[in-house]
Amino acid sequence: MVNASENLSKTWLSFKESLLAGSKRRFSEDELNLIRQSFDYAVRAHENQKRFSGEPYINHVVDVSLDAASLKLDAKTISAALLHDTVEDNVATMRDIRKKFGEEVAFLVRGVTKVDKLKYHGVERAAESMRKMFLAVAEDIRVVMLKLVDRLNNMKTLYALPSEEKRRRIATETLEIYAPLADRLGMGEIKNELEDLAFKYVYPKEYGWIKKEVSSKMPEREKYIKKVMPIIKKELSQEHIKPLELSARAKHYYSAWRKLLRYDMDWDRVLDLVALRIVVASVEECYAVLGVIHKLWRPMPGRIKDYIALPKPNGYQSLHTTVFCLDGQPTEFQIRTESMHREAEYGIAAHWFWDEAGKPKSGAEFEGHKFSWVRQLQSWQKEFRRGQSSEEFLESLKIDFFKDRIFALTPKGDVVDLPEGATPVDFAYHIHSEIGSHTAGAKVNSKMVSLSTPLVSGSVVEIITQKNKKPSSEWLNFVKTSLARNRIKKALGITSPPHKTGENETELNITVKNRVGVLKDITAVLASFKIDIEGVSSTALGNEYPTITIKFRAKTREQLERVKTRLKKIKGVKSVAEKN
Ligand code: MN
Repeated sequence: MVNASENLSKTWLSFKESLLAGSKRRFSEDELNLIRQSFDYAVRAHENQKRFSGEPYINHVVDVSLDAASLKLDAKTISAALLHDTVEDNVATMRDIRKKFGEEVAFLVRGVTKVDKLKYHGVERAAESMRKMFLAVAEDIRVVMLKLVDRLNNMKTLYALPSEEKRRRIATETLEIYAPLADRLGMGEIKNELEDLAFKYVYPKEYGWIKKEVSSKMPEREKYIKKVMPIIKKELSQEHIKPLELSARAKHYYSAWRKLLRYDMDWDRVLDLVALRIVVASVEECYAVLGVIHKLWRPMPGRIKDYIALPKPNGYQSLHTTVFCLDGQPTEFQIRTESMHREAEYGIAAHWFWDEAGKPKSGAEFEGHKFSWVRQLQSWQKEFRRGQSSEEFLESLKIDFFKDRIFALTPKGDVVDLPEGATPVDFAYHIHSEIGSHTAGAKVNSKMVSLSTPLVSGSVVEIITQKNKKPSSEWLNFVKTSLARNRIKKALGITSPPHKTGENETELNITVKNRVGVLKDITAVLASFKIDIEGVSSTALGNEYPTITIKFRAKTREQLERVKTRLKKIKGVKSVAEKN
């Protein structure tokens, strides 16, 4: 990561210089203009503002945007990085930004601002939902990356925050939400930095202890590694392998600690305190290097890991082996190609859309990778192997796989995951049926709202209960979840659902030319009729003409026919048929 703290004079020229040096992209005249205007705007907005550390506030914004540039993010994202702290809750500023910098920059800034409102209160079981909520609220992968570099920068100056409680809360959130997100996106370097910065505040004693232990062990290990390196080099050159990089890498404090916990705090079993990394030109050479090492030293059983043939879920690839090295000392080696190396450090940013020259990459260079629940995003990207326009690519950065879900919080910070349009009553039943059936009122973000108000992601919902309160039949008109519906009906003594004709479930098979956004267009039609989709499935994504099946309840037969007519008008739709 770039650290621009030294050359933080507020002048555009010095900023531009760092920007061009730190980014591998080339910017057009128009793009540089946009960045310059954003820079000036930020300088003015943060004039006279200081951080807790006493530094001018603009330093933070500049660092974040230079970090964004080093991840090869585009001009609009860099512009959003410069503007990201100007808005907060100021609606007028948001409007101003849209007017001056356009819809896309405004969208990114708004994304960052929305994510900023989420607060993680350290409820362990909610961490996973919180991560999902984070992505749902961010809406765009570039917003996630901006938030990661923003947090990284904030962690570096966390010491200056006066409140210990606040430092701890932010560090915990970093450790449990931000670092795992960076990991899932395969951004190993940012993940490691975030973890080590947060470790100190979340577990101060353990951090102090590990730091002391490592520093007492390191000099010896380093001396040892210096003896090993020439041996490898010589052996590799005899096999005509020229490594692009041969380096020693110290284990990060936090991961060393996690590992110690797994191994009963026994240092002797944490073998990779220092690992040797060998970067070579091809996959074939990776395996050849592994052979050379195993010929030199005996491998330790069970410690050979082929993450090239079997990548980790976040896409990480390398060969790992631990051998009884010089003097029989166990030593770990990591072998990988250059692109695997980049991928391991920068993850999703490594196979960013633009090549070194700043031109869009050709499809073949754009490899698909398998992140666990980011896989869906990747599968969209895979579809762009041929004939991608930049507009389609932007579309593919949208995180819309949580589009039909909302994530709301209890006042204690527990996350409740609900379908779109869910109301405080749904929320109440999802916490506990007793709370649901005694619901008397609800507050959203501290304001009283009606029980039928649709919730939005990130809101804090407080349910007010009264002992003598009972479910009302009116609730059936607005609840969205079957859980709430069933409980209410049960309480009201309704056994058979009051079926109107035409209220039966419909399944439609839609055959359509595959393109990005088609699902969005389909759901938009249903949304315009205020119909909830109860299920969506699709034949293989790779198919050029997949069939998408949607399940929903139309209110009348006539409405169903109108839905079908509208669906047929969607670009690329070949047929719409009712499934019997
Ligand atoms: Mn910030």
